[in-house]
Amino acid sequence: MLAALPRKEYQRLLARLEPVTLTFGEVLYEPGETIRHVYFPSTSLVSLLTLVDGHLAMEVGLIGREGMVGIPLVLGHNESSVRALVQGSGTAMRMAAAHFRKEFRLSLTLRQELYRYTHALMAQISQTAACNRFHVVETRLARWLLMTHDRVNSDRFHMTQEFLGHMLGVRRVGVTRAAQALQKHKLISYSRGDIAVLDRSGLEAAACQCYEVVKDMHDGAQAGRAMRKMRNSAAA
Ligand SMILES: [Zn+2]
Repeated sequence: MLAALPRKEYQRLLARLEPVTLTFGEVLYEPGETIRHVYFPSTSLVSLLTLVDGHLAMEVGLIGREGMVGIPLVLGHNESSVRALVQGSGTAMRMAAAHFRKEFRLSLTLRQELYRYTHALMAQISQTAACNRFHVVETRLARWLLMTHDRVNSDRFHMTQEFLGHMLGVRRVGVTRAAQALQKHKLISYSRGDIAVLDRSGLEAAACQCYEVVKDMHDGAQAGRAMRKMRNSAAA
């Protein structure tokens, strides 16, 4: 997301940004907690989880290099309504909430980028709600694997069964069955939490349509960014 900003804006923001390494399982926000930092993931991956009955968690959103963690601040709220959990270790840039509020007021481009992204994230969250209700685990697992694959820049990633269960809102046995089905069709290999994507287009065919719907929303934002980037480099 930051890479899409005009160079001058990015340079100014850099002074306020701090590189951090996020570790798998780290909680960035809990529901009701004041947001102290916003995060721009680069190689890390952050999952937004809604809690039910105080302990059952289910993923409603996934944020990687295309977005920012801390969207409530964009909408004028200081607290998170969800748990933000690091789902893939890696790097990110973070900015203190007070600095972010100031930069957000100052920069029209940053505002535009974040409004566009917020809209795409809202689409992702609402699509996920419907997907969890209407689509079977196997197609949802395929969708989730594709979303992760898009964001991590690698064909291999690590994810325990327990964690996958939270992502999909099913028990471990449900995860096992769905993973076995995908494995049987040689779309992935899955062993002790090590997942390898073997057949990307096969996985796309196995996923529910929700994947495409959400991807188009995010790509729409990206296409806009790519165009702006082109304009900026042409002007430079
Ligand atoms: Zn679906």
